Amino acid sequence: MLEHVEKHKTASGASQEIVRRHVKSYSPAPHMRDYEELYKGFSWGDIENEFSWKKTGKINIAHECADRHCDTWRKNKVALFFADDSGVQKYTFQDLTRESNRFANVLRECGVQKGDRVFVFLPRSPELYIAFLGIAKVGAVVGPLFEAFMMEAIRDRLQDCGAKLIVTNPELEKRVPFSVLPELKTAILVGAKDRKLEHFERSWEHEMSEAADKFKVEWMDREDPLVLHYTSGSTGKPKGALHVHNAMIGYLATARYSLDLHEEDTYWCTADPGWVTGTNYGIYAPWLLGVSNVVRGGRFDAEKWYKTIEDLKVTVWYSAPTAFRMLMAAGEEKAKRHDLSSLRHVYSVGEPLNPEVVKWGLNAYGRTIMENWWMTECGMQLICNYPCLSLKLGSMGRPFPGTEAAIVTDSGERLPPYEIGNLAVKKGWPSMMRMIWGDENKFKSYFRGKENEWYVSGDSAYMDEEGYFFFEGRIDDVIKTGGERVGPFEVESALVEHPAVAEAGVIGKPDVMRGSIIKAFVSLRPGFQESEGLKTELMEFVKTRLAAHAKPREIEFMDKLPKTRSGKIMRRILRAKELGLPVGDTSTLED
Ligand code: ATP
Ligand code: MG
Repeated sequence: MLEHVEKHKTASGASQEIVRRHVKSYSPAPHMRDYEELYKGFSWGDIENEFSWKKTGKINIAHECADRHCDTWRKNKVALFFADDSGVQKYTFQDLTRESNRFANVLRECGVQKGDRVFVFLPRSPELYIAFLGIAKVGAVVGPLFEAFMMEAIRDRLQDCGAKLIVTNPELEKRVPFSVLPELKTAILVGAKDRKLEHFERSWEHEMSEAADKFKVEWMDREDPLVLHYTSGSTGKPKGALHVHNAMIGYLATARYSLDLHEEDTYWCTADPGWVTGTNYGIYAPWLLGVSNVVRGGRFDAEKWYKTIEDLKVTVWYSAPTAFRMLMAAGEEKAKRHDLSSLRHVYSVGEPLNPEVVKWGLNAYGRTIMENWWMTECGMQLICNYPCLSLKLGSMGRPFPGTEAAIVTDSGERLPPYEIGNLAVKKGWPSMMRMIWGDENKFKSYFRGKENEWYVSGDSAYMDEEGYFFFEGRIDDVIKTGGERVGPFEVESALVEHPAVAEAGVIGKPDVMRGSIIKAFVSLRPGFQESEGLKTELMEFVKTRLAAHAKPREIEFMDKLPKTRSGKIMRRILRAKELGLPVGDTSTLED
C-alpha cells in the first residue's frame, strides 16, 4: 500500500495534510467501497436482517456471538487466541458456546435472574470472555471492571447499581468491600481451587466441572439491558451508561464497515474489557461477524506486542493513542525487527491521535493509523476514518452511515463549516445508551435542541466543508486566551512534534490580563534534559507552528502525566494541581 500526503485547510486557516491511499499489495476489497454511496443507501433494517433473531424472534447477543456459529462451518474456527507469556491458547466457537453454557448454568445455580447486575473483575483471561457470554445467556446485565481498580472504585460502581454477583479471583477479591455491599450475595473465584471457601464464595473450576455444557438461552427483548459501562472518569465521577441487546446492530455494522473485518481476518483489539472499547470491540463486535479474536494478557510491552502481531499474523489492529505514543517512544527499529506485514488496517480510539503519530506509523508499519471517535454513552463508533476514504491528518473522520453528526451551539442550532462548537449526533442510532444508571437528570442533560434531537457529546470540534470532523478538546478543556479559543489538543500535538517531547498535557491557567494563559505539562523522551533553554525552545516551537496566541506561556516538566487507567491524559488533575483545588474522583487515575 503506497500513501502520500497533500495539504488541506483547518479552522485556524492553517494548512493541514491529507494522506492519499493507493492499495497495491493484496487485500480483500473493503466492505465499504465508496463512503458517499453507502451513506446514501444505508439502512439499519438491512443490518437487522442478518441476525438470526430477525427470523426466529429469539434475541440474545451471546447466541449471535457464539451459538449461532456452531450451526455453520465456523464451529471449529478459532474464536479466541489468548496469548500471554506462557504461550497461546485457542478456543473455537464451539468451545466458547459450551463453556459459556456451563457458566450460564453456574449462574443459574447461584440464583442469578434476568436483569440482575453481575460484575466481572478479572485480568484478561479466557475466563473473562466466557463469563461475559454466560452472563448474557442468563439475561443478566454485565458490569465490566478493570483489574487495576481499587476498593473505592469497586464500591462506588457496585453500590450504584446494586450488584448481585461478582466474578473475580482471590487476589482481586481482597479489594471487594462485601460488608458495605449487602446486595452482593456471591463471589465466583477463578483459581481458588485449593482454598477454603466462605459461604458466599464459589470456585469457578469446581462449579464449571459440575455444570452441564447445554443451556437454554434466556430470550430477550431488543430493549432489555445487556451491559452497564461506567465512563472513564476523565472529566469527573464515572457515569453508568446502560446499553441494551439492540446495540448489537451497531456493533455488527461498525465491525464490518469501519473496522472492515472480513471472514479471514485475525483481529486484535488491545483495550481491556474494563473499558467500553474492550467490551464492544474486544468481545461482541468481532464475534458477531464470526471473526477470530486475539487477546493478549499482561501489561504493555512493545516487544511482546509486536511479537503477538507477528506470531498470530494479526491483520486488523485496534488500539489507542497512548499505546501508539509508547510504541513510538520505543523506536522504529523495534517495529522493523518484526514482520508486521500481515497488518491490513490499524485503528485508534479514546483520545485525539496526534498527526505526528500517524506520520510515524506510516513509516514504522507502512499503514495509516485510522482513528475513530465515540464515547461510552454512544456504544459504537460514530465518526470514523474508513479504509476507502482519504484521511486528513488530525481528523477523526466522517459520520458512520445511518448516523448524522453536526457541530451545534449550546441550544442545539447547527453551525457552519470551520466554526468550533459542540460535537453532536442526531439521536436514535441503535447502540445509544438507554439511561445513566440512577440519574435521570444526567441522562436528559445530554440532549438538546428541537425535541431534544441532538445528543451533545461534551466534546468541542469543527467540521470542514467536506464533512470531516476535527477534535478541539473537551468543552471544559477549551482555553479562552486573550479573546481567542485554543483547543488543548492542537497545542499538545505541536509539542509532541518536538523531538524532546514524549507527551504533553495543556490547560488554561486563570490570568487577569488574558482571561487564561496556556500552561503545558511536558514529559521528555529518554536522553533529553529539563532546562530553562528547552522551555523557551518549546514555547517558540509552538508559536511558529500554530500561532502566537497558542504559545504556552508556562511550561512545567513532569516525569509522567496523570492518566486514566485506560491511558487518557487527565487535564482536570493537572488543573486541580495547578490551582490547588480538590482533585475530585480519582478512582480511574493510573497511579
Ligand atoms: P468521563 O466521561 O467519565 O469523563 P471519558 O469521557 O474519558 O470519561 P470515555 O467514554 O471512555 O470516557 O471516552 C469518551 C471521550 O474520549 C470522548 O468524549 C472524547 O473526549 C475522547 N475521544 C474518544 N475518541 C477520540 C478521538 N478519536 N479523538 C479525540 N477524542 C476522542
Ligand atoms: Mg465522557
